[in-house]
Amino acid sequence: MCGIVAYVGHREACPIIIKGLKRLEYRGYDSAGIALMNGDLNVYKKKGKVADLEAFISDKDVHGNIGMGHTRWATHGEPNDVNAHPHYSSSRNIAIIHNGIIENYAALKTLLISKGHTFQSETDSEVFINLIEDIRINNNCTLVEAVRLALHEVVGAYAIVVLSKDDPNQLVAARKGSPLVLGIGKGEYFLASDATPIIEYTNEVVYLKDYELAVIKDGELDIRSKEDIKQTPYIQHLELTLDSIEKGGYEHFMLKEIFEQPRSIMDSMRGRMIVESNHLMMGGIREFENKFANAERILIVACGTSWHAGLVAEYLIEDFARIPVEVEYASEFRYRNPIVRERDIVIAISQSGETADTLAAIELAKSKGATIFGICNVVGSSIARATDAGAYTHAGPEIGVASTKAFTAQVTVLTLISMIIGSKRGTLETSKLHQLMAELENIPAKVEQALALDEQIKRIAAQYQDATNFIYLGRGYNYPVALEGALKLKEISYIHAEGYPAAEMKHGPIALIDEQMPVVVIATKDSSYEKIVSNIQEVRARKGKVIAVVTEGDTTIPTMADHVIEVPETSEHLAPLLSVIPLQLLSYHIAVMRGCNVDQPRNLAKSVTVE
Ligand code: GLU
Repeated sequence: MCGIVAYVGHREACPIIIKGLKRLEYRGYDSAGIALMNGDLNVYKKKGKVADLEAFISDKDVHGNIGMGHTRWATHGEPNDVNAHPHYSSSRNIAIIHNGIIENYAALKTLLISKGHTFQSETDSEVFINLIEDIRINNNCTLVEAVRLALHEVVGAYAIVVLSKDDPNQLVAARKGSPLVLGIGKGEYFLASDATPIIEYTNEVVYLKDYELAVIKDGELDIRSKEDIKQTPYIQHLELTLDSIEKGGYEHFMLKEIFEQPRSIMDSMRGRMIVESNHLMMGGIREFENKFANAERILIVACGTSWHAGLVAEYLIEDFARIPVEVEYASEFRYRNPIVRERDIVIAISQSGETADTLAAIELAKSKGATIFGICNVVGSSIARATDAGAYTHAGPEIGVASTKAFTAQVTVLTLISMIIGSKRGTLETSKLHQLMAELENIPAKVEQALALDEQIKRIAAQYQDATNFIYLGRGYNYPVALEGALKLKEISYIHAEGYPAAEMKHGPIALIDEQMPVVVIATKDSSYEKIVSNIQEVRARKGKVIAVVTEGDTTIPTMADHVIEVPETSEHLAPLLSVIPLQLLSYHIAVMRGCNVDQPRNLAKSVTVE
């Protein structure tokens, strides 16, 4: 999914690009490269992190006021120096950086080889730049024209920037499917996969639309459609601050983001709930309230952690609003000919708002006439733009690859939505609604209390850092939390973990339990408390090590568990917002103790913009 950055202006391009790539490293980090125009078109690239590239270019001449850089998450061709971007064309006159996948690259490559083009790498991106070169030579046209015509030939997703030796003061960029933001400074321009490399220099940005082509030449910006029609850019003023994207004294972004949750949950409710006047409102949902209330069914499409937030929402919406809900993996939904009807509402959840499978699921549901509601964190993202309505989670930038604050923000927003629909439909009693609102308002303070358990959790982590397997069990609202806890551990510590509904354990996973097996049981006081106490006994009987997350003051479970982590009492409907906190901390500490790269776990990337 890669991160791309480009600069043209009066400053040195290289430091801006390197710093920008470091901010985008969450998008991919298996190799990095930079192209600079300084007399010639020079490309430097290296397998590994941006820091490896930085070391590699330290003795090179990297001066120049125009350039572009890339941090890669390989889709076509293994991560190595050759497959790293930028890629030259055969003549080495032009070069490209690319985020996305060119689906018809194989056919194009065969054609280009037959016309004499040569290839160094296995990437689809190198095919794109040779296609541009081919069109330029055959049509004897400008680079801009060749890029525009090439957009008609390629199938798939791309955000590209192209530099040419013959036009040393020009950047050409285009996008379809992959994100690309243009920053407009004073006499300088920036291009990047998201706004984080840009905001240090300017808050004025343009989110390029699909099939738009941006040309910056001699200080002038020109945006055109792929039919060559001039477009008027919509310039937005971003509120994002530099502080919000830096580590702020924490050792890792993930830890910072875990500790930000009291605030991010609060920000996700801000302006949407006024407890004193019992008022609930959500801009995005207002004009769709009736549609929601009359929905025949709600379909939730998401991937990964967002899918777990969707499962919590299934319980909430069915409970409060009595509308049937189905939660789907976007990647399955998009390819399985699902039944979607006009009176269905589809809720799409994605932190980045760029998740390729979720975007495709949205398009499919749209084509079948459903109303689409998006929940994402990144303002102006593709999903935010592709949906009929939506709500932002306002969690602030999430940089750690393993999602934490985005999950709790998603659950907060989904809780508000389920309360709004339930109250509109009259299925959620007013007194219960008011109680829930009052309790939701208390959640940030209770999350703060749960975070104070950090030292205790660190001690537990120390005892289990060498485990090779973990089981996570939960029931009801805590079942999705068990899945999320297991996913967090797998992602960042590479320990195999299974999340299960506690009662399902006896249908299989119980066979795994022996004295070596740590079993994390989320057993807060709720309507299935007695049942989960029995499940703990079943684990004990097989000598499993029980790490129990319980409600403060519980006197039963401490008599049977090896470790007890107490979280504050709350309504069972809101339990996931609290019970997930110790699980995030547990996986974080275990991963740090095992020497893992917590913010950039192997093989993963933050926003999955490929299918
Ligand atoms: N397909 C390109 C490559 O493998 C770009 C990858 C991406 O954007 O994830 O190099």
